[in-house]
Amino acid sequence: MSRVRLLNPGPVTLSERVRRALLCPDLCHREPAFAALMREVRDGLARVYPGTEAEFSTVLFTGSGTAAVEAMVGSLVPRDGTALVICNGVYGERMGAMVEAHGKRLVTVPHAWTDAVRLDAVERALRDDPSITHVLVVHHETTTGRLNDLRALAAVCRDRGVAMLVDGVSSFGGEPMDLVGWPIDAVAATANKCLHGVPGVSFVLVRTAALRRGSASPSLYLDLHRNHAAQEDDTPLFTPAVQVLAALREALAELHEDGGWQARHARYRALSQRLRQSMAELGLRQLLHDPEHAGCTLTAFELPDGHRFDDLYAALRARDFVIYPGQRTLFERIFRLAVMGDLTRSDIDELGAALADILAGGGGAGSPVALRTAAGSPGGSGMPVG
Ligand SMILES: *Cc1c(COP(=O)(O)O)cnc(C)c1O
Repeated sequence: MSRVRLLNPGPVTLSERVRRALLCPDLCHREPAFAALMREVRDGLARVYPGTEAEFSTVLFTGSGTAAVEAMVGSLVPRDGTALVICNGVYGERMGAMVEAHGKRLVTVPHAWTDAVRLDAVERALRDDPSITHVLVVHHETTTGRLNDLRALAAVCRDRGVAMLVDGVSSFGGEPMDLVGWPIDAVAATANKCLHGVPGVSFVLVRTAALRRGSASPSLYLDLHRNHAAQEDDTPLFTPAVQVLAALREALAELHEDGGWQARHARYRALSQRLRQSMAELGLRQLLHDPEHAGCTLTAFELPDGHRFDDLYAALRARDFVIYPGQRTLFERIFRLAVMGDLTRSDIDELGAALADILAGGGGAGSPVALRTAAGSPGGSGMPVG
């Protein structure tokens, strides 16, 4: 059986060890063995960044990364508070949409998707509007591969006395973050990106002090505080994704044995450097013009002249690689390659060789398949991919 290599930013290529963990014995979520599993996973997540466990608590959700982000935003921004959302990509815009959906006051600092966060504009917005209680930011903007500078933003927020809520969905476990030292009240993330688990479980790491302020959640299912209280009690509110949690426990053990987030970061760095180098050798340009601000997990490349995403996707799919399109207006312009998951240097080298062959006209379009989200929606339908 050929091995499919997923270069999309989650769900990721699984290790055999994590895949096998899905075949755990049947387990009811009201049994002591499940309580132990849930504790192990919650504690393991709080310890991914050592030292965090003393001040933060983990709340699990059965749902994708967006569920955790929405639980964080909905429960922690007060009903009469104001959220300042930094938008330089799809996921920042999505947090803004959540604030509006929950009927809370929204201020945005808009940017072009390819731009770095303008700290002066954030500072000005905070000065102009003292009702702002929280700054919402995406750490790694998967739209473009930019790693927003949380350290610099943290300094601005600390000066103004506002708390940060972070979408860390595609950075948690793979990029540096100082949850304790920065004025971060919560970070939301998921099992199936840098942590190399299976999709279906997401989580919020929330500062215990922020939980004391009570929940502002308009949602029953995504109430951070109620879920937290129930999980502290070993009695999850709703049916959890038992097997997915078993796989996440294994993925966390694997992360730990491999050397923790630092080792994973180093591994992603090395793979991305190799990838960027081999794409450059093929004449492909990166979307970001300040690549020193790119994260280590994903790179956006301009589509080569004369190639549409769908054709490139199909030709690479026939060689067992899955690549990812750009979103909305970037659909016509870029494709994205992530190095998360159980990928090796030889996978990246094979990708380079496959792409060289395709660009030289070899192999045709491969099998006639297209990514469903991408097909027929060049920048159009407004449906975000991912
Ligand atoms: C993938 C991603 C999400 C949402 O993930 P889903 O699991 O598809 O809900 C949110 N934010 C960022 C930055 C992401 O990369």
